[in-house]
Amino acid sequence: MLTDYHLHLRPDEAGKAEEYFTRENADRYLAAAEEQGIDELGVSEHVYRFKEALELWGHPYWHDQAVDDLGAYCEFVRDTPLRLGVEADFIRGAEDRIADLLDGHDFDYVVGSVHYLGEKGAVDDRRYDVWESFSDADSLWRTYFEWQAELVRSGLFDIVSHPDLIKIWGADRPAPERDPRFHYEPFVEALAGSETAVEVSTAGLRKPVGEIYPAQALAEMCRDAGAEFALSSDAHAPDQVGFGYDQAMDFLERLGVDRICVFERRSRRLEPIG
Ligand SMILES: [Zn+2]
Ligand SMILES: [Zn+2]
Repeated sequence: MLTDYHLHLRPDEAGKAEEYFTRENADRYLAAAEEQGIDELGVSEHVYRFKEALELWGHPYWHDQAVDDLGAYCEFVRDTPLRLGVEADFIRGAEDRIADLLDGHDFDYVVGSVHYLGEKGAVDDRRYDVWESFSDADSLWRTYFEWQAELVRSGLFDIVSHPDLIKIWGADRPAPERDPRFHYEPFVEALAGSETAVEVSTAGLRKPVGEIYPAQALAEMCRDAGAEFALSSDAHAPDQVGFGYDQAMDFLERLGVDRICVFERRSRRLEPIG
């Protein structure tokens, strides 16, 4: 079994729902998956593209982006062979509202993400750069992984996506002075005994950091804590479906992981990889 669960039918920023939530566009993704031997394909559009997200948070970027209708998206995806997911941001203090929003739809899985450390700024968007709110890399990394731990402990999400997104800029930003494993610790502790799967995402290969999320050392700690893994590319276009999967396979093999999570109606099972 191979999966690609973290996909976006719409590119960031551009376009309108009616251009991308079409059977023709879904078929392009399905064809790309078939070519790569990927059995299970699901979409997880950003929650902040939907008007309903403004009940969770009122960031200016969200106000710009929140134009689509979540119910219409769900209906559209259910009429295709795609699994129905959503990429929902973890917003501290909005847990109950996130739960209400997610409960209102019959998702196969929910991908949970920390893109923003609240008002301190964005991890992966230079326009709202979180690095401007922190005096040193260690305090930023510590805070980021505390948020990741809270995401897991909330129990709201089936998968924690791009688990060390904080490294996205690679050598463009200072590295923490402490061993990164020190910063991973609270997150890994939260994962132990939780049902949240850890995403192995090849998206990092396309970013300045040029490596898979999570880092090998973090993946080893997650594995040792008993976490299970989900596999995704975070594609924003059909030609990114299954991107870098040969490297992901090697990565998982080195880790000694031979099974991945498969989701249906928010229930999880494990299947052998490949
Ligand atoms: Zn994301
Ligand atoms: Zn994404």
